Amino acid sequence: MLDHLSRTIQEERHPEPDYALLAEKFRTIVGSEGVSAAEADRLANCRDYWPMGTIWFMKGKAPALPDLVVWPRNSSEVAEVLRLASANNVPVTTYAGGSGALGGTIPLQGGISLDLKRMNRVLKLDQDNLMITVEPGLNGSRYEEYLNRHGFTGGHFPQSLRCSTVGGWVACRAAGTFSTRYGKIEDMLVSLEAVLPDGKVVRGRNLPRMATGPRIDHLFLGSEGTLGVITEITLRIWPYPEKRSTARMLLRPLSRLSRPFAS
Ligand SMILES: Cc1cc2nc3c(=O)[nH]c(=O)nc-3n(C[C@H](O)[C@H](O)[C@H](O)COP(=O)(O)OP(=O)(O)OC[C@H]3O[C@@H](n4cnc5c(N)ncnc54)[C@H](O)[C@@H]3O)c2cc1C
Repeated sequence: MLDHLSRTIQEERHPEPDYALLAEKFRTIVGSEGVSAAEADRLANCRDYWPMGTIWFMKGKAPALPDLVVWPRNSSEVAEVLRLASANNVPVTTYAGGSGALGGTIPLQGGISLDLKRMNRVLKLDQDNLMITVEPGLNGSRYEEYLNRHGFTGGHFPQSLRCSTVGGWVACRAAGTFSTRYGKIEDMLVSLEAVLPDGKVVRGRNLPRMATGPRIDHLFLGSEGTLGVITEITLRIWPYPEKRSTARMLLRPLSRLSRPFAS
């Protein structure tokens, strides 16, 4: 099946690592079910919602294919995978929900697509300080549903809520429908943990703000996978509103007045 897919924008690399051998090494880190060289998995992670990539895909072309898909289960596995990849000159592209619209998940140079969907746990709900700590691969809807069950809301509602992840929101500096009320993701971020390409783990602190020095958390906001892998995120949360009401605005041509009405 892959033979007829043209390598539209895939870059060539020399020398080509021995991926069969590397797959075995990655399996010792993430378990046998955490590594795949199957065509279906490689195709599933070859693109996101970047319109050009989607059009190519509908025409039977893959923008670029990873050689392996690797699913780590926690932060220390991410660190080990990155260390091994670095030592073997293997490119790594982080893949979360795949809803990004800029082609950031396309593995331009092949190598590993590091898929974070197995890192989807809620690590801590701090009801007193209104904060929650989660793993990056937690789906947006699941995140909000979890908070609602406990009487809270995350206040973050991008149109892609159901197909994006909390880590993807931070990596892409996302905004949502209620950002005018709750703020954008950069306003919600309290701290994060990330793994650098050499496997070193860095983490911020759960402080409202710091008056001195740059914050590592802020460097990762909107970094789209270029600086490392975000492995843990602490966000602000709010009590679930007691009442909700919505309104719509009908926009008419300039010559007429726009008139709001309740729904
Ligand atoms: C229908 C639709 C509606 C959308 N609506 C909105 C909207 O309202 N607001 C908005 O802001 N965006 C919107 N988007 C864009 C997209 O959903 C967001 O950018 C989202 O935050 C991406 O999250 P994801 O988990 O799907 O990330 P992915 O698409 O998997 O990844 C996006 C980029 O971030 C990197 N990345 C992902 N996770 C990590 C991580 N843990 N560590 C390091 N790098 C990482 C990837 O390598 C890639 O470069 C929309 C997209 C679609 C298709």
